[in-house]
Amino acid sequence: MPLRALGSAPAAAIAALTREIDELETLPRFDRDGAGDRALLALAEARELGLPELELRAQLVRAEVLQRCGELAEGGRLAQEVFTWATGNNSRYLLARSHYVLQGVFMDLGDLSQALEHSVRAVDLLGHDARPALRIDHLVRLADCLCLNGDEVGARERYPEVLRLAEDLGDLDRQLVALNNRAYFEALTGHFDAALGFSTRLQRLADEHGMTLHVGRLDTIARALMGLGRLAEAEEVLRPGLRPELLDASPDGDRGADSLLTLAEVLRRLGRLEEAQISLDACVRTCEELGLGTIRVHARREQAELHAAAEHFQAAFEEHKVYSRDVLQLQSDQRDARAQALRAMYETSEARRQTRRYRELSLRDPLTGLYNRRYVDEELPRLLQHGVQHAVPVTLALLDLDHFKKVNDTFSHEVGDQVLRIVAGLLEAAASAADDGDGGSFAARMGGEEFLLVLVGGDPAGAVGMPEDVRRSVRSQPWAGLAGSCPLAVTVSIGATGSHEVNTPDPAPLLSRADARLYRAKRQGRDRVVSRD
Ligand code: GH3
Ligand code: MG
Ligand code: MG
Repeated sequence: MPLRALGSAPAAAIAALTREIDELETLPRFDRDGAGDRALLALAEARELGLPELELRAQLVRAEVLQRCGELAEGGRLAQEVFTWATGNNSRYLLARSHYVLQGVFMDLGDLSQALEHSVRAVDLLGHDARPALRIDHLVRLADCLCLNGDEVGARERYPEVLRLAEDLGDLDRQLVALNNRAYFEALTGHFDAALGFSTRLQRLADEHGMTLHVGRLDTIARALMGLGRLAEAEEVLRPGLRPELLDASPDGDRGADSLLTLAEVLRRLGRLEEAQISLDACVRTCEELGLGTIRVHARREQAELHAAAEHFQAAFEEHKVYSRDVLQLQSDQRDARAQALRAMYETSEARRQTRRYRELSLRDPLTGLYNRRYVDEELPRLLQHGVQHAVPVTLALLDLDHFKKVNDTFSHEVGDQVLRIVAGLLEAAASAADDGDGGSFAARMGGEEFLLVLVGGDPAGAVGMPEDVRRSVRSQPWAGLAGSCPLAVTVSIGATGSHEVNTPDPAPLLSRADARLYRAKRQGRDRVVSRD
């Protein structure tokens, strides 16, 4: 029986897609729009290739992009779906990544304790061997969450690790994030000297690389200076960032409203009340254009201060009343928005879980796209029952990769994953080549590096030859291409049996027979098929 070998094109396509998704996962922080478009393409390609893990990883990139664009309900819903799936399929990496995205969603919804829980899990599940850029992203979120939850000690422990990882990696963008967030944290907790120290490093690093800091980062520096009473310097730092052409490009999405507010405060404290009013008016206009509720409310408090500084106490009192009313309204609006987003996230996700796509995915192995053990448990009894009733032979081949641990150890876990996918492709090809129309034959990943091939029908003689064909086709794959200059060889051991030997609809005796033969194949030297006792 000829096997349709998985040629170099699909293997190369999978490798390229994996690289693309690896990169996409590190992008949304810096390039929302680009990452979103590319994630959609990657998702479609992963679906086409039948690789659930890659599909869901791309889905999480989309979810993060949506979260960063303020589409919290939709981003949260997608992340929640992947989370549910990953829980059911024990996919640690997807769990780590969905916790990461959910952390962002809950943070933006203002639910700090949920955000903290997700960020702790996101760091734990990602593990120490993850790619450094991802580890940095997960850790920085945890540090931010600890900081906002008032755990200063915890945050102070995490930030240096983040910075060190970013420096080791030579990743300028992430070094800037680490310094900025650290400085922000120090200012928030009233340690303005430390905040200024980190701000100065931030500025110096940007200068060294000829980069212009955007207004949000300048704001961090200005707040540190303001905290130290160095008002003139704070103004000097803020002014260049408030040029209109820079504001439009500000990645914070507030077109500098927050910094206009900081500047208003600086100017007021310098006693330049008219200029302060001009800056505050610009801030309010931007808030109203963009619907920035929170900053608008803070602007009211500043307006009250400004009236008071000008000794317009009646106006100050009136403004303060409006401010107090608006603060309460804002809190209630945020509660409503949170409740609404949560409802959208969970209700729809419950409904979606029932959809065909997710049911189908729940029977698939994330890494290879083959059926998983759950499918075997559901499907094999049915096939055997049908076989017994209609005298259709069913052949089982249990495969285990030989010395696979060595592949991981000698090359890498990624190369190991690639090998698993390629073997999966060969098995899938064998199953569909054996199927003469009425279907039923399938390949599954039982776990780790163990696979099952089930062939329905055909003559028993052909079925006996099949495992041997599979063994040979694995051995003769062009494995060398996967591993650069090092020689990589992959073989499998196979234990085979058929329903003609044990004529029962119960899969257990057949599977244990196949297992015992697989064990013998290993003991006899591996790279062989055992199909007799
Ligand atoms: P043997 O020939 O006796 O089967 O030796 P082996 O090394 O293949 O068997 P062992 O059971 O000692 O090791 C199996 C290895 O498979 C260990 C584990 O790290 C690796 N493995 C399991 N699942 C995955 C996976 O999803 N990806 C990768 N890359 N490796 C995996
Ligand atoms: Mg093995
Ligand atoms: Mg094994």
